[in-house]
Amino acid sequence: MLAPFTAGWQSTDLHPLVIERSEGSYVYDINGKKYIDALAGLWCTALGGNEPRLIKAATEQLNKLPFYHSFWNRTTKPSLDLANEILSMFTAREMGKVFFTNSGSEANDSQVKLVWYYNNALGRPNKKKFIARSKSYHGSTLIAASLSGLPALHQKFDLPAPFVLHTDCPHYWRFRLPDETEEEFSTRLANNLENLILKEGPETVAAFIAEPVMGAGGVILPPKTYFDKIQAILKKYDILLIADEVITAFGRLGTMFGCDMYGIKPDLVSIAKALSSAYMPIGAILVSPEITDVIYSQSNKLGSFAHGFTYSGHPVSCAVAIETLKIYNERNIIEHVNKIAPRFQEGIKAFSGSPIVGEIRGLGLILGTEFVDNKSPNDPFPAEWGVGSIFGAECEKRGMLIRVAGDSIMLSPPLIMTPNEVEEIISKFGDALKATEERIAELKFK
Ligand code: PMP
Repeated sequence: MLAPFTAGWQSTDLHPLVIERSEGSYVYDINGKKYIDALAGLWCTALGGNEPRLIKAATEQLNKLPFYHSFWNRTTKPSLDLANEILSMFTAREMGKVFFTNSGSEANDSQVKLVWYYNNALGRPNKKKFIARSKSYHGSTLIAASLSGLPALHQKFDLPAPFVLHTDCPHYWRFRLPDETEEEFSTRLANNLENLILKEGPETVAAFIAEPVMGAGGVILPPKTYFDKIQAILKKYDILLIADEVITAFGRLGTMFGCDMYGIKPDLVSIAKALSSAYMPIGAILVSPEITDVIYSQSNKLGSFAHGFTYSGHPVSCAVAIETLKIYNERNIIEHVNKIAPRFQEGIKAFSGSPIVGEIRGLGLILGTEFVDNKSPNDPFPAEWGVGSIFGAECEKRGMLIRVAGDSIMLSPPLIMTPNEVEEIISKFGDALKATEERIAELKFK
């Protein structure tokens, strides 16, 4: 197998960790070793493993209608019902329609085509550029990787595409100036965004895309007033706002959507992952009524909106997603997250004093930690030490799976975690941290 996001040396038969089954917040490898899944798969298995209702929903739909498509004004009941349910759950502003994809990357690619179609329909053929942020992650297809602000996604792939521009990463701890308050930092970033728009020409800039909380870039929370200031600039220049909620939708931050947490009123939203608790692949975009109206009137004039996937609105994925959303509502998932999140955050942030920790940051059930020397963002450990990987391996040894990216590590456990499982994560985190500190002390001594 050519494994995604895997270095060649890891892809031999000797090295992969092969996961065989899951149960609640745990997964088991082929040797029977048990791990607490502190990343919920890839930030997605919100309801953990073995949820019988999701298995039943999939089986019933497979028996009834395993597939029908949604092209040419044909569709299936599960896709119609799911679209309506998503629209009723998103309350940050009124949304018009839902378009289904199979993944977050496809959702973000679809956003770009939709925005271009929209601006062509409005007779603004030059308004086509996208602004994204450094360290963002929006997926790995050509356009989604271009939007992403992580160098590894660009280098060696001839990306980003020329219509994509990147602006500042809103990471206060790392990028603030001396004595700059969070609010001042946000003002500076909003000014930089405005200057970039003016330099490019506002008539050429179509949309700005942002994760409410940046995930794969290291769990970066927006500084105070950031989204208010950014939204004011976008409005001023008639630039659309796309909220990439692929990680943050459905309770991860303690609100149903990240837009609710930060007062974001987007024109377009991307969702995936927890939409089906990852039991079936599905993503979607929510489209504002204004954009929907333009697309409808244009396609009535010019023929169909020629974009879609064979599996857009796949009935089995939709049936599973409907059941997932029902479970979130019935089990009050937001209340549950808000009950367990304070201990999760406070328990891990208690390790902030560690000499190898620069910052521990998070909200709800998402958390990132950055390892640096001398507690300074300007003093990275030598890359060849692989401090993040040492910590990841120490977690794995103790039966906990996390995400490592350089010297940043990330946690995003299932939303259904019990208080005991929260304690287990905190305790394993602490033990792995101690072992990593000892290893670094040895490396420094050499
Ligand atoms: N957007 C964000 C914010 C993500 O975190 C991800 C995946 N981690 C994606 C988009 C891409 O989703 P997918 O892997 O389903 O294509």
